[in-house]
Amino acid sequence: MKPAPFAYHAPERVADAAALLNEFGDEAKVLAGGQSLVPIMALRLARFEHVVDLNRVDELRGIERTNGTVRIGAMTRQADIERDPTVAEAIPLLAKATPFIGHFQIRNRGTIGGSLAHADPAAEYPAVAVALDAEFEVTNPGGTRAVPADEFFVSTFMTALDTDDVLSAIRFPVWNGRCGFAVEEVARRFGDFALTGAVCAVELDGEDKVARSAIGMFGMGSTPLRATDAEAAMAGASVIGLDLEEVGRTAAAQTDPPDDIHASATYRRSVGAVVVARALRRAIEEAQRG
Ligand SMILES: Cc1cc2nc3c(=O)[nH]c(=O)nc-3n(C[C@H](O)[C@H](O)[C@H](O)COP(=O)(O)OP(=O)(O)OC[C@H]3O[C@@H](n4cnc5c(N)ncnc54)[C@H](O)[C@@H]3O)c2cc1C
Repeated sequence: MKPAPFAYHAPERVADAAALLNEFGDEAKVLAGGQSLVPIMALRLARFEHVVDLNRVDELRGIERTNGTVRIGAMTRQADIERDPTVAEAIPLLAKATPFIGHFQIRNRGTIGGSLAHADPAAEYPAVAVALDAEFEVTNPGGTRAVPADEFFVSTFMTALDTDDVLSAIRFPVWNGRCGFAVEEVARRFGDFALTGAVCAVELDGEDKVARSAIGMFGMGSTPLRATDAEAAMAGASVIGLDLEEVGRTAAAQTDPPDDIHASATYRRSVGAVVVARALRRAIEEAQRG
């Protein structure tokens, strides 16, 4: 099928994009990589009178490290993030999550901003953003504001973005020290959206005790989830003798996974616990090596 007719706008500045969104309200939609929006429009699951294409807005692209933060422009392609040495060094969790997104053809066009704004609860990037306490830069005609990741994701495909908001960039804090990072997921086929998955970061002190940890889960609820109970259970604990399977079960117990044609809630909770345990084990091993 083809999309219903729409007016096409291609601004070159964020301010102009925000002004167009402000003018047309909920009759307008932003186009980034098109990997989610175009199928939705082509199948006529949604219809918009105006499409505001961000692909010519250069100021929305790029990866920049300053002090303890990496700022990534919303229109930065997933494939560029996958290959970027700064991301690999400073935000390894994001680098490790990227190859799990669909196939390389999708990552060549798909953007980080598109993935976050689309807010699919089974997507990898939203879970990384929540786990690492990323901050979202949101621009509208009134200016730019910062939204913390835990306030950005509201529900399935719903975010804190208003109709005239452009997600302009995402800031990730850099973890230093004896750190390890791992991503685990279970999908029916490689490249499919995950049935359940986990992204984990662990920092160890000099005595192999957990100085801090971050566990993000996806496919386990209507938003990406932070396993705060499991993180609390690990805080200060020595990794020797730490029962990671129990930590995984604690993480899964805090979720309310969907029951759908792809998997039952019981399956997701049971496999989700295993996925968390596996990711934590790999993250801890990496931290010990470093
Ligand atoms: C076959 C297939 C498999 C896939 N598998 C996975 C997977 O395993 N994991 C995964 O995470 N994703 C997967 N995806 C989705 C893919 O990652 C998309 O790239 C992503 O969801 C959307 O990014 P995009 O840049 O293409 O955004 P678009 O499709 O252009 O836009 C998506 C939505 O976000 C809004 N939006 C985009 N950018 C902005 C912005 N800067 N400000 C405000 N709103 C904005 C749009 O208006 C739209 O509502 C898959 C897609 C396909 C087709």
